[in-house]
Amino acid sequence: MRIAVVTLFPRMIGEALAHGVVGRAVERGSLIVECFDPREHATDVHRTVDDRPYGGGPGMVLKFEPGVAAVRKAVASFPGGAPRVYLGADGRRFDQSLARQVARWPGLVLIAGRYEGVDERLLESDVDERWSIGDYVLSGGELPALVVIDAVARLIPGTLGDAESAEQESFSDGLLDWPHYTRPAVVEGRHVPPVLASGDHAAITRWRLREALGRTWLRRPDLLERRTMNATERVLLEEFKTERAQRAGRNDDDSMTRSHK
Ligand code: SAM
Repeated sequence: MRIAVVTLFPRMIGEALAHGVVGRAVERGSLIVECFDPREHATDVHRTVDDRPYGGGPGMVLKFEPGVAAVRKAVASFPGGAPRVYLGADGRRFDQSLARQVARWPGLVLIAGRYEGVDERLLESDVDERWSIGDYVLSGGELPALVVIDAVARLIPGTLGDAESAEQESFSDGLLDWPHYTRPAVVEGRHVPPVLASGDHAAITRWRLREALGRTWLRRPDLLERRTMNATERVLLEEFKTERAQRAGRNDDDSMTRSHK
């Protein structure tokens, strides 16, 4: 997959993509990321890319001409063109299901804004979609672009060593991930759930699904509402709720005992 990023800070992108699994995908060539800097298209001696907003108010706005020139150069670098996406807080929320779709695209142009934003006419004329990474405002679109690239790169076949790991992560099946543990078996009096050391693979799979359902029910009930559970999953979630209620009851008893001592 090839991704072009239109940014005033190309080094931010290059440096962040040099590490970990995404860094390896870049090294192997399964992910190619190239930056296009609007400043290279500024025509005055100061290489100006921003100007004051019409109507007054604080901040500056990324100018149309250098911005659009960089976007068009980025698009032209794809033989058949590529979808053009502006990263902005007012966009469609970027999520795992969108990341899965994008991972099947051969190419993509990501446009990172700066200042108060980009001249709206550029977004009207040269942008196909707007994506937001969440309801907060960042100083620029570079971190959102990196978030998109990282989430998508993990889903490109071959990026993750274990082919299954992307399939088993949070959101892959509309559920959050189950808890993970590694050695030692006991730390500061906390034990690894015995089933994980039992060697019984069916029991481990069952326990993991139950924990994933339980966590999603506790932390992101909205995800469960959007998902249809099968009969086994319903039983497992009931089991999780019952065990949790029993644990809470035991903890209440313990604290009562302690407070009466
Ligand atoms: N005036 C804009 C607003 O209120 O939405 C904020 C501009 S922000 C300081 C500068 C740039 O950061 C934006 O042009 C956009 O590219 C990027 N940005 C900020 N927050 C973002 C978010 N939640 N998702 C995606 N991009 C974001």
